[in-house]
Amino acid sequence: MDAALTRRIIERLGSAQHPVLLTHLRPDGDAFGSLLGLGHALRDLGTNPKLFVEGGMIDMYRFLPGSDLVQDLPDAMPETDCLVALDTSTRERLGQKTVSWIRPIDIVIDHHISNPGYGSANLIASEIPSTTGVLFKLFESAGWKISPSTATCLFTGLTTDTGSFRYRGTNAETLHIAAKLVEFGADPSEIAKQCYLSISHERHALKRLVSNTLSLKDDKKSAFLTILPEFYSKSGAKSEDTEGIIEEVSSIQGVEVGSLFEFSQDGGLRVSLRSKGRVDVNAIASCFGGGGHKAAAGIRFAKEAEKNRDLVLAAISQAIASLKD
Ligand code: 5GP
Ligand code: MN
Repeated sequence: MDAALTRRIIERLGSAQHPVLLTHLRPDGDAFGSLLGLGHALRDLGTNPKLFVEGGMIDMYRFLPGSDLVQDLPDAMPETDCLVALDTSTRERLGQKTVSWIRPIDIVIDHHISNPGYGSANLIASEIPSTTGVLFKLFESAGWKISPSTATCLFTGLTTDTGSFRYRGTNAETLHIAAKLVEFGADPSEIAKQCYLSISHERHALKRLVSNTLSLKDDKKSAFLTILPEFYSKSGAKSEDTEGIIEEVSSIQGVEVGSLFEFSQDGGLRVSLRSKGRVDVNAIASCFGGGGHKAAAGIRFAKEAEKNRDLVLAAISQAIASLKD
């Protein structure tokens, strides 16, 4: 991480009177972990940051300390002298309501390789596998206190974004950061219990419906799942309950690319892509206006869902065909 940039961001955050922190729509563990992790750190410095995400808190991450502080996006732009975007690869992914906020984002803190740097200051460290890891390094260089609450939030982002320290981006530094967070008070087994061993019955019912849609292609090197709108009424699950379902396919032996196509009621399509490492799914997603990381990326289409699904599957086939065995 660039030392001068890090210093500039620390000064900007440390001197803010009314910081407002934002993260991406369809938030995951790293989104909530970074929102609340920075929230706790700033509160410990004596300010009262406001924390917003489209839709507000979700049940699965309510165990995070301070989760009541997270609010749904307001209609009007909140008063602030420091607007921060966390873990969000494009400005649009901050949510529809923020599009009308005619104000630059002051600070972007992220780890997505596809992030163009849409803030006035951009700390984008794609070598660190979670935004909470970037925040940890920032807090360490600032000499800011890392309370057990902060550590719990940061560890949650690190474990969820690395697939419990299994994905390729996990290296010695990741594990050093995790170890220090445990020293600061994060409890790995309690966090794992909340994140991985507390699946709601509705979520599980959705998972069963989705599992039945499994299709294999490209000599079983590509596998995909489908979510239809009626799966939600059948299972009672919510849209947030799809997180992690894609692991079902990307974990199959021999599968290089796993994908998940979610068809929405209004004719739109959400695509999730996962790679075991040989295929760059960020490159595939970028061709369709999406993005993410080499091993995990996503795309959103507003219309022509089936046609776009076929185009994405064709791009995956092409990428797999060009692999040298
Ligand atoms: P997921 O499949 O879990 O929704 O997303 C995987 C990764 O791709 C995440 O890092 C996420 O930020 C990114 N991603 C997902 N959907 C989109 C999208 O529509 N646009 C962009 N730019 N990135 C996305
Ligand atoms: Mn992340």
